[in-house]
Amino acid sequence: MPIRWRLTLFNALAIGVILLVLGIGLYVLVRDTLLSNTENTVRQAAVSVAKTIRSGGTLEESNRERLTLEGVFVVVRDGQGKVVGETLRLGVQGGSRDGVWKQAARSGKPASGTANLSNQAPDYVYAVPVRLKGSGALRIVEAGKPYQGAQETLEDFSAVLAAGIGAAFLLSIAGAYILARAALKPVDRVVVAAREMGEGDLAKRLPVANPKDEIGRLTTTINALLARLEAAFARREEALARQRRFAADASHELRTPLTSISGYARMLDEWALKDPETAREAVRAIREESGRMRSLVESLLALTRGDEGAPLNLGRHDLASIASEATDAARASAQGKVEVEFRPPQGPVEANCDRERILQAASILLDNAVKYTPEGGRISVEVGRRGGSPFLSVTDTGIGIPEDELPMIFERFHRVDPSRGAGGAGLGLSIARQIAETHGGTIEVESRVGEGSTFTLLLPEDLPSGGGTRADLL
Ligand code: ADP
Repeated sequence: MPIRWRLTLFNALAIGVILLVLGIGLYVLVRDTLLSNTENTVRQAAVSVAKTIRSGGTLEESNRERLTLEGVFVVVRDGQGKVVGETLRLGVQGGSRDGVWKQAARSGKPASGTANLSNQAPDYVYAVPVRLKGSGALRIVEAGKPYQGAQETLEDFSAVLAAGIGAAFLLSIAGAYILARAALKPVDRVVVAAREMGEGDLAKRLPVANPKDEIGRLTTTINALLARLEAAFARREEALARQRRFAADASHELRTPLTSISGYARMLDEWALKDPETAREAVRAIREESGRMRSLVESLLALTRGDEGAPLNLGRHDLASIASEATDAARASAQGKVEVEFRPPQGPVEANCDRERILQAASILLDNAVKYTPEGGRISVEVGRRGGSPFLSVTDTGIGIPEDELPMIFERFHRVDPSRGAGGAGLGLSIARQIAETHGGTIEVESRVGEGSTFTLLLPEDLPSGGGTRADLL
């Protein structure tokens, strides 16, 4: 059952009970007032007539007219119940069916009760015994009035009361329904708006009529939820697109050496085996290409592991010793083509890091420096602290990077210009940046075309020691 109807029903029940209780109370109050009015009139009449009779007066001397107007009749009896006077001709027989006068005669005190004295009976009867002044004879003054008048008024009143209660009940139900409908109208609007929102409509928002009432607060909360969902969807879309691009680029990069390998293999199979010189050339090419493939696959694996948040093997290590090891390796691979030097710092520069990963990042930076520095150039490695943060930088006198390319060089598979030669697949810097970020650090680059570049790996000031995961750090 809709809330609107439940509210209306509850209201109807509550109002119905209140009206019923009020109605019954009012009825009882009016009935009691009407009946006690009748009884008071009768009592006053009996007492006043009794006074006249006691002092030797007759019934005629009492104010008959007033009595008749008030609808009161009076019967005067002697001690045996014989009627000696009456205001209306009632045909009442002494000692007949009614016992109120007898009660008064026996007790000598006024008595009251119900009797059938008039033709509109039942009547309220009040009997007062009196001793006549002088003779001392007993007289009983019996006054009465039919209840009928009061009852008729009560019936009229009940009819009006019932109609009033019925009308009030219907009005209040209608009012409750209209009120509930008006209060819940904004909910309908929200439902319609929400229903109209399709899957791609996360940018839409629900209408907020009054942000301060309950429904307004609910709608505002739903809108905030929609905003969060929209952002989450956008992030997911972006991640998916990045993943798709990554997979496409990876396949493309792997296809090139594969094509080359299968070409040389076919050549060997078809004729080159007969020519030892060409065969050696083909085998050398196949080994070179498969080496490229292996390093590409290793890079891809490193990136994937980083994406998955592989845990870091954290410990306190001297950056200078890492830099020195990387420099030695780079010097060996440069084969004297360029000069590679490491300027050791004054003292150890300790950092909380995963030694293997930082060594890998430093090697990538040094490999690039060697690759992109022409013969006779110079590469220098430096280690130190910048404002408390440990850093390792690699400066070369190489070809440099155009300014507009700088923001892109850390993207996966991005190469500045393949024609600059010596390039790899464009994954080295993405891996280095991932390593830096996994540690909570960054990589900065400064470069001038034709003059050289400086790459700086900056680690956070104080990294918690011991083992940890990427999630702990970020
Ligand atoms: P790659 O495997 O092609 O070297 P990287 O991700 O390591 O890929 O580098 C991205 C691009 O940035 C490279 O293609 C290269 O053009 C440029 N680059 C990186 N390091 C240097 C450097 N020291 N000097 C000049 N250019 C560089």
